[in-house]
Amino acid sequence: MGIKYKFTCSYCVYQVVTSGGADSGLKSLTDTIYCKDCDSISDVKIRDGIKANWTAPTLEKKLINNVSIIHHDDVSLPLVCPQCESINTELWDGTCPKCKRLMVCGEAVVFWD
Ligand SMILES: [Zn+2]
Ligand SMILES: [Zn+2]
Repeated sequence: MGIKYKFTCSYCVYQVVTSGGADSGLKSLTDTIYCKDCDSISDVKIRDGIKANWTAPTLEKKLINNVSIIHHDDVSLPLVCPQCESINTELWDGTCPKCKRLMVCGEAVVFWD
């Protein structure tokens, strides 16, 4: 099961609900991308099927590592922005799309399959 957290930029107060990097549902692996075309942050499926023995990083780990968001190392699907269908995207580095400062991981808000 995947978990999405509320990330907040403490500078410009922008908020986004996202897994914040590598995550996994029952049937697929997801990761978090940043779209350079529409400045949005989205969770997208990066591989069909799940990895045995893989567990998503915990909130504690996300907080400690939010300077460097943890990503899957085996992305096999194109990173297509679900908002604008652009492939001008990259794995999210944890920074705010508005002001480029590091966002802070907050409480878990969505549990998904
Ligand atoms: Zn900001
Ligand atoms: Zn986009």
